[in-house]
Amino acid sequence: MHRPASIVLLTGAGISAESGVDTFRDKDGIWSKVDYRDVATPEGFARDPELVHDFYNQRRSGLAEVVPNAAHAALARLERSFRGRFLLVTQNIDDLHERAGSRRLIHMHGELTKALCAKCGARHEWHGATSGSSRCPSCQQVGHLRPDVVWFGEMPYRMDEIEGALWQCDLFVSIGTSGNVYPAAGFVEMARDAGARTVELNLEPSSGRGLFDQAIHGRASEIVPEFVEHLLAGG
Ligand code: NAD
Repeated sequence: MHRPASIVLLTGAGISAESGVDTFRDKDGIWSKVDYRDVATPEGFARDPELVHDFYNQRRSGLAEVVPNAAHAALARLERSFRGRFLLVTQNIDDLHERAGSRRLIHMHGELTKALCAKCGARHEWHGATSGSSRCPSCQQVGHLRPDVVWFGEMPYRMDEIEGALWQCDLFVSIGTSGNVYPAAGFVEMARDAGARTVELNLEPSSGRGLFDQAIHGRASEIVPEFVEHLLAGG
């Protein structure tokens, strides 16, 4: 294979699973215990805001108990060592990529460690709990803060930048994602249309397996570092 000049990587819940963060769609995943319509839609938030605040407050406080694993570390190493264009896009709302050292990173579904004011649109770093009585530090209004997380039916963040990078990339790597949630599940087709080589690294074949030139199946903490070493060695 030619050494790539521009890489886009997409990560999903599977890369954080071995750090102890629950995935969504696996047998014991979050959606087997909670109805996504209650906690991951604007309608659910309007119906019962405190339930939604509690759900994300628990996940935010849980970040203190998890650490990045070898797969997160390998992607940060790749970013540091790779000489071409590089973009890491994550669907994850945890902060494990940045804690591992990733910088050229887009959280397309938002971040647990931020709150968004639905009144003025400001985003703030938020490490404690949010509730219906939280005050926005920008507009000072009470009762409009929500987790800065993209819910079903909402538009993911920074799609123009992501699509621009996909059109330019010559290697696209999808890691730890089931390929069920659009638009992320469609990135592989955009990269293919742009002429990129496409690789899947996942525990099992994803929904889009047939769209990848190569698939390596196994635990992210093992297959991602191996893949990165191989890539940096020019393989
Ligand atoms: P998903 O739960 O649908 O799929 C996870 C995938 O990871 C599965 O295909 C599974 O086989 C694979 N996997 C599980 N353990 C793995 C391991 N050790 N190594 C490699 N692969 C492994 O999650 P998704 O595709 O990311 O779904 C997208 C949605 O889920 C997004 O909206 C995202 O925001 C949300 N989500 C985020 C987090 C997080 O922030 N860590 C966690 C769960 C879900």
